[in-house]
Amino acid sequence: MRFTKIVCTLGPSTNTKESIRSLVDAGMNVARINLSHGSLEQHLQTIRTVKEINEELKAAARIPTCVGILLDTKGAEIRTGDVTEKIQIKAGQEVLFSSKPLPKEKRTVIMVNHEHFDKDVLEAELILIDNGLLSFDIVSTDRKSGTVTAKALENGSIGSRRHVNLPGANLSMPSITPKDWEDIAFAAKEGVDFLALSFIREAKEVEEVRGFLTGHSARIALISKIETRQAVRNIQEIIEASDGIMVARGDLGVEVPFESVPAIQDDLVLSSRRAGKPVIVATHMLESMIDQPMPTRAEVTDIAHAAMSRTDATMLSGETASGEFPFESVGAMDRVLLATEEHITQNTAMEESPVENERAARAHAAVTLAVTTRADSLFVMTRSGQTARDVAKYRPNVPIIAFTDVVETQRALQLTFGVVPILIPFSSKDPEKTVRDAIAAGKAMDVLHKGDHVVLVSDSKAGDESVNTVQLRRIP
Ligand code: PEP
Repeated sequence: MRFTKIVCTLGPSTNTKESIRSLVDAGMNVARINLSHGSLEQHLQTIRTVKEINEELKAAARIPTCVGILLDTKGAEIRTGDVTEKIQIKAGQEVLFSSKPLPKEKRTVIMVNHEHFDKDVLEAELILIDNGLLSFDIVSTDRKSGTVTAKALENGSIGSRRHVNLPGANLSMPSITPKDWEDIAFAAKEGVDFLALSFIREAKEVEEVRGFLTGHSARIALISKIETRQAVRNIQEIIEASDGIMVARGDLGVEVPFESVPAIQDDLVLSSRRAGKPVIVATHMLESMIDQPMPTRAEVTDIAHAAMSRTDATMLSGETASGEFPFESVGAMDRVLLATEEHITQNTAMEESPVENERAARAHAAVTLAVTTRADSLFVMTRSGQTARDVAKYRPNVPIIAFTDVVETQRALQLTFGVVPILIPFSSKDPEKTVRDAIAAGKAMDVLHKGDHVVLVSDSKAGDESVNTVQLRRIP
């Protein structure tokens, strides 16, 4: 089995039921819907289709057991305006950036959708367009007209609604825009599993969303996308406020010098793992497979690097959303992850994550037992999913078979390293009876076998008292 989970972005190449089912068969654990594109009606249809597939997977009672659903917000982005023809730019040319139309201006005007662009640009080192394909030196700003004069550093062209980045600037616009709030309300209503928040800069933004969701009685895990310098700086408080993070390397590589991305990626993966929260490494992992059936060797090595750092998940974006080879891309990622995990024979991760409380101590003890006694699997009973995440934090080299009676927990655990989440009813007050039911379900699904040596993490009865236990067991 594969320990590192795969997140696939759905889009025009893959939003029919048949193609989503093919992505599941190829290895997708979590389906991502990018709210930067498409309408809420389209997204609703896609969510319903994934839910139908989940019902079918449940009826089939085999692995994979379900697919998690992740909605990814657009966030506060600066974009250029709509143009009828691409604006041609020559290196050395001076242009004007403006948030208001300037009909009398003779020079080339690049419209931007941010009212305080002239103010925010003061902190920026450069103006980057199209993820850095075009860059401009800032020459001067005119606060009266609200315009910015800038000098192009390359030749190029600018189409409609191109991405604009101001590396180094702390944007005055809120990270969560009015559109995002509508999308967050949509997520709360439709009952998805994860909400990825774009351009998060501080913990209080995550807390605001958490407050909104709590007010709407929505149980959705919040994944903060780390893609700004401020977020990297505030990473500890952001991880604390979030349920997980995404290393959003596309925007991050524009906001910081691209050569810093690998070191930041490794630091972010380690920080999230230490907190016992899932981390996704995202963007450009198999970019060449958007139009080629084979990955480059550098892409293969990039996926392997992420797996060696023991990330919880790796993600595909354009490869599965709009590429020509979506199923081959998942297949390639699956193969690389499996081959890399096979290569990592040592459980090197255990000492890297702290043991800070009783829960963590129990999970650590369970993993120590599993590793030292060469168990076949860890066997966890969990309602909220937390016990499974506690165990996953120490990155055991055996699968974590997590039994839960809560369908939302089952789907949420699809993002967590090494967890096979299985839904069973916890119908008895007697924990031993529930364990017996779980063993029967695990055997039927071919994840537990007669004679398996397992480490069980569950409640047990000690007289009338219910106690936390870690047990060595042999599957009957
Ligand atoms: C990224 O920038 O890497 C990312 C995942 O964000 P998006 O695809 O939403 O731009």
